[in-house]
Amino acid sequence: MIDDYESGDEFATRAIHAGQIRTSEGEQSEPIFTTSSYVFTNAAEAAARFSGSVPGNIYSRFTNPTVRVFEERLASLEGGEACVATASGMAAILATCMGLLRAGDHVIASRSIFGASVLLFSNILARFGVETSFVPLSDATAWRAALRPNTRLLFIETPSNPLCELADIAVLAEIAHAHGAWLAVDNAFCTPALQRPLELGADLVIHSATKYLDGQGRCLGGAVVGNRALVKDGVYGFVRTAGPSMSPFNAWVFLKGLETLGLRMRAHCASAEHLANWLVEQPGVSRVHYPGLVTHPQHSLALRQQKAFGGILAFELEGGRETAWRFIDAVRLCSITANLGDTKSTITHPATTTHGRLAPEARATAGITDGLVRVSVGLEDVGDLEADLQRGLRAAFS
Ligand SMILES: *Cc1c(COP(=O)(O)O)cnc(C)c1O
Repeated sequence: MIDDYESGDEFATRAIHAGQIRTSEGEQSEPIFTTSSYVFTNAAEAAARFSGSVPGNIYSRFTNPTVRVFEERLASLEGGEACVATASGMAAILATCMGLLRAGDHVIASRSIFGASVLLFSNILARFGVETSFVPLSDATAWRAALRPNTRLLFIETPSNPLCELADIAVLAEIAHAHGAWLAVDNAFCTPALQRPLELGADLVIHSATKYLDGQGRCLGGAVVGNRALVKDGVYGFVRTAGPSMSPFNAWVFLKGLETLGLRMRAHCASAEHLANWLVEQPGVSRVHYPGLVTHPQHSLALRQQKAFGGILAFELEGGRETAWRFIDAVRLCSITANLGDTKSTITHPATTTHGRLAPEARATAGITDGLVRVSVGLEDVGDLEADLQRGLRAAFS
């Protein structure tokens, strides 16, 4: 595996070529190996593969050539030694915890993580003796204060959803390592095109490939990237035994997605930045959350830690839920859907959807106001998107 890349060109080249192995057919595009098992030439070879003394495919719950190309390509882009692909982003988080933690361990997670991740930690893993504390993402003092002798894992998403708050990955990695714990970063929002947590000291990168890695809203998938010991001995051991493996078809879709990842992210970011700056100027918009704005409290951290500011933005409309819903119902290009990272722009009202189950006080603490709207900026023409948001504003305040 190539493991140094400085320029954007090298990233782009790896995104297209890393991991590909041509078969004797000489195919230009990677093939999809839809097979559940693999044939051995004789009994002795079967025995050798099963014993592990000879490497090679046995069964697609363990390894599959198409899935392997995706894993090697993503590992290369994140700058990691090893990658394990999973059936979904949640399966990647579950496999990380099941592969590396045991009953009695303690996890610290940032408060503003994906809703299903909160439920996984607080409802499911808690039943198996893994306790989780939730702390504010950007408050390093709170992270230090939450450490316990049995803390094994720190888990974050940065930027956060939907308010685009950032965590300083290098600082949290130091806190984790000084305590003998690991730092895992859910990198679904930035992708390796914008942010490479392993280079900043994180131990594990987790992906929902469902989002930008696919980039066209087609398949569910996930991945865990890190060093060989954690990923191959820890996480992979759980995946091959328990079975949340990625399907070869989905792996193929994702590795095709990776080929255009850099280009797409650049375009998502350029449009999001344009719209964030435009929204700031609009009457009725009381606040815009986007790391690219100089007014964002962590703008300088974003400049240091990310290559660009991402394709997600959120904004608050005066008038609360009613105006927000009128806005959402009036736009035509933005689909009302919870997915993000698609070529198609999407729009959500966090207070009544993704964060609807939180108690009103918890929502207020998290900064999810009733007037908040989140947009995942797609790859439509940015002028058309601006006109669409203008249509939303006119309806909201008519
Ligand atoms: C969507 C998402 C997940 C979960 O991924 P699935 O593929 O839906 O299981 C986890 N983390 C983040 C940040 C996400 O956006």
